[in-house]
Amino acid sequence: MNLSDPLSSHFRILPAQEKALKRLGLTTVEDILYHFPTRYGDTAEVASIASLAKGDHATVFGTISGLKTSKAWKKKIPMSEAWVTDGSEKIKIIWFHQPYLAKMLHDGTTVRVEGKVSEKKSNAELYFSNPKVEHVGDMPQTIGISLFGKDSDIHALYPVYPETRGVTSNWFFHKMQLVLGSGILDAIEDPLPQEILKKYSLPTLRTALVWIHAPQKAADAEAARKRFAFEEIFFIQLEKQKTRHLFKERSAFVIDKSMEEMERFMERFPFTATNAQRRAIEGALEDFKRGHAMSRLLEGDVGSGKTAVAASLAYAVTTSKPKGQGFGTLQTAIMAPTEILASQHFDSFIKYFRHLPVNIALITGAGCRKFPSKVNPGGWTDISRTQLLKWVASGEIAVLIGTHALIQKSVKFKHLALAIIDEQHRFGTKQRQELTQKDAVTPHLLSMTATPIPRTLALTLYGDLDLTLLDEMPPGRKQIITEVVLPGKRKETYEKIRSELTSGRQMYVICPRIAEPDPDKELAVQAKSVKEEAKRLQSEVFPEFVVGIMHSKMTSVEKDRVMNSFKAGKIDILVSTSVVEVGVNVENASVIVIEGAERFGLSQLHQLRGRVLRGTHQPYCYVFTESSGVETMERLKALKTAKNGFELAEFDLEQRGAGELYGRKQWGISDLAMEAIKNLKMVEAARTEATKIIDTDPELKKHPLLKLRLDSSAQKIHFE
Ligand code: ADP
Ligand code: MG
Repeated sequence: MNLSDPLSSHFRILPAQEKALKRLGLTTVEDILYHFPTRYGDTAEVASIASLAKGDHATVFGTISGLKTSKAWKKKIPMSEAWVTDGSEKIKIIWFHQPYLAKMLHDGTTVRVEGKVSEKKSNAELYFSNPKVEHVGDMPQTIGISLFGKDSDIHALYPVYPETRGVTSNWFFHKMQLVLGSGILDAIEDPLPQEILKKYSLPTLRTALVWIHAPQKAADAEAARKRFAFEEIFFIQLEKQKTRHLFKERSAFVIDKSMEEMERFMERFPFTATNAQRRAIEGALEDFKRGHAMSRLLEGDVGSGKTAVAASLAYAVTTSKPKGQGFGTLQTAIMAPTEILASQHFDSFIKYFRHLPVNIALITGAGCRKFPSKVNPGGWTDISRTQLLKWVASGEIAVLIGTHALIQKSVKFKHLALAIIDEQHRFGTKQRQELTQKDAVTPHLLSMTATPIPRTLALTLYGDLDLTLLDEMPPGRKQIITEVVLPGKRKETYEKIRSELTSGRQMYVICPRIAEPDPDKELAVQAKSVKEEAKRLQSEVFPEFVVGIMHSKMTSVEKDRVMNSFKAGKIDILVSTSVVEVGVNVENASVIVIEGAERFGLSQLHQLRGRVLRGTHQPYCYVFTESSGVETMERLKALKTAKNGFELAEFDLEQRGAGELYGRKQWGISDLAMEAIKNLKMVEAARTEATKIIDTDPELKKHPLLKLRLDSSAQKIHFE
């Protein structure tokens, strides 16, 4: 048996299994070796059916019989039932709403059943309602235990693999026994250097593979999981550190500006810059002087004033000349994820630069604009794309702001010296690269984000960037008043809001959906929709105010039109999906209502309420929820008490795990590694070791195994 052998060359695989394995992306022997159990069952925790009592949370093993599916019960709920017998007694299993589950079983199947034991009121009969049911075949016996015999107190672990239709946990268990027994592990080389394994007491690859699939004790399984998690994070770090090293090697324009010069630019701001803003600018100026490309992440809570930092750095660039040239100017590109945001930046930059002879332009899918304008003194004018491209290529346009349109091949700069990416988490690494590879000379890179990422995650995902924190809010900001509103308090809350609206303020209402779900569809998600909620608010709650709507299915022209009316005060209440999430600035909007709050992550809720933090009015955030469950209430309470977004992000990471929060699927990181990202020590260790290696051996010439692995995994993992 070889690692690269297709599974089908060793095992007889039924068509249904073949499909399932394909869905899981498993084709070779090596693939299933790295298909890890999600947890371990403990045979000692198995109860006999005769011993069950009402209210128990129990696990039993037994054989299925009397399986039947009925369509109509009292309320037309699709329902199936079956008996499970273990030799001591039998108990009924009832499935509501899950007829497909019963279809995967048949009479005679041996199963593991885990769930809560309920009691029927009518006849005091015990039953499992919607328990977790897994095929087990003869698994308990194969691991040497007669589960239903006298010696059932023997303690052993058995692996439980993620199950999918067509291939059972038991199948994996059996195949793994054969694979592990084949001696194939002897052929496996451990890519992790011995010193690292020793230093952190991690098992070797061979040991870890055995321990993760067939542990003797829980501690072994744990050690194996730790090793694989470390390995994954280590390779991510290795890749990040390599990128960072290469980026730093590239030559970039030298921009030599003093802080005094910057102060003169900042004097014209309608506010005094915070110390954090000054530090961020100073840090970047240091990087600018080195002749190597800066790559920096500017992380600052919503409203911390990242735009002013970006504008100041753009100023430093536009007032610098290309090396050895007495004329022309260096250029800055600023990329934002939405048209609304790009044009908002365009407007802000005009304000920051209007006293200077600097040409600023905007490029989005909707068209191009330029400032200043001959036909519209003091303002901007529409220009053709062709004209814009010409002026960007000739270097006449010093600052180009735009959406993705900015990274198209046709956009060529004369001397691009600084690339700024706003809300960078909305872009992929590829887009980031496209922006920084427009020229032979690498531009300095400033990535900005308001997403408060826990430190461990930032170190992992953005390990190739230097980190600047904008950890100070501009003074004089009113503290937002956040209230969690349960259905009973809705009316009362609307009255409070009415008084705000009456005194001239505006409001956002965020709904989880765009349109109503199809009522004919079973189990359609019941959540407020923008369209219905706008109708309801207009006709039943706030007839005296103007209600507008915005959502992602609208064209960008429509969205811009609505946003501009809202900015101009022609709309009082803007009902929207979370598309307003990103950076939009309407100072007069002081109230935000979030419907179905339990559907949003805490960080996202925090981002959303940042929409009303911009002005001088007292801001309010009303978080409406239908669910008063303990966990939901605890999460929402954190929203009231947390001091900043970082605290909330940590809380969310603790409670929900990184995978769910930050879209693991998009990043291609395993659940195992995501779990490990909660562990700061492990992340730091992986980073330290990776940095050490890259610093002395950037091409990994002395580490061929690492190089091999990195080259092959680089194709798999791509952060988005
Ligand atoms: P974000 O960091 O979320 O992108 P912005 O750059 O949009 O925040 O700034 C939010 C608001 O705060 C803007 O209206 C901006 O003019 C204002 N602002 C920025 N810096 C300061 C400061 N130092 N003092 C007062 N207001 C500021
Ligand atoms: Mg912003």
